[in-house]
Amino acid sequence: MKEIVDSHVHVSLLPFEGWENMALAGVKKVIGCSLFFGAKHAETLFDHFHQMLTLSMSIADKNGIKLYVTIGIHPMGIPDDWTRVIDALPDYLKMSGIVGLGEIGLHEGNKREQEVLYEQLKIAKEYGAAVILHTPPENRIEITNKTIEIAAKVGIEPRKVIIDHANLDIIDLIEEFGAVPGLTIRQDGLTPQVLLNHLERFKRGVLNSDYSNLRPNDPVSVPKTVRYLELNQAHPELIDRISRYNAEEVFGI
Ligand SMILES: [Zn+2]
Repeated sequence: MKEIVDSHVHVSLLPFEGWENMALAGVKKVIGCSLFFGAKHAETLFDHFHQMLTLSMSIADKNGIKLYVTIGIHPMGIPDDWTRVIDALPDYLKMSGIVGLGEIGLHEGNKREQEVLYEQLKIAKEYGAAVILHTPPENRIEITNKTIEIAAKVGIEPRKVIIDHANLDIIDLIEEFGAVPGLTIRQDGLTPQVLLNHLERFKRGVLNSDYSNLRPNDPVSVPKTVRYLELNQAHPELIDRISRYNAEEVFGI
């Protein structure tokens, strides 16, 4: 069986059975991303990070999956005292099990979100950390451009940056910048069919489920996609890259 990496999972929202099914389908490594919807206080995020590093780690372990954690301020949960989280990020990045910042980025794209993103990217650059950047369902091109503009202003190394939820609309922007496309597989986004038909354009990408309970999601969308690509005679090397090696390289895991 293949050794699959799911590069973006909101593990605190993943039920035990989700872990079990991922393990049964060949997922060996998971990048657990931070998201506390509607967080009001820095402490909320600190507790959220702690929970991923303890409870989620232990559940992953029980299922034979290695969990790596990314932390940070998601644009859908920016606390009032968010600068306190920024101040704490360097210490988190030194902890074992933490492999980068994510999920961070722009959702609506307003000034506050831009400021929070800029400050986080500065820290990521300083510590050489990998970053997982969100792109929203609306105004995708405009907001992806803005995101890239902020990343370029910070001067972060593009190959350490995953721009997630890539699809045909923004893949060229991501490639031009030199970032890694995050390939979130879901019915109302990038589907296995679209990926198969444009695999060459997405070959630098990293597959993920972006599992959360905010919308219909499938914790085994990555193994299902691997199987779909195999059944349709996609190039085995490209399948291995997007389902494992590209993610292992970005996160150094
Ligand atoms: Zn996400």
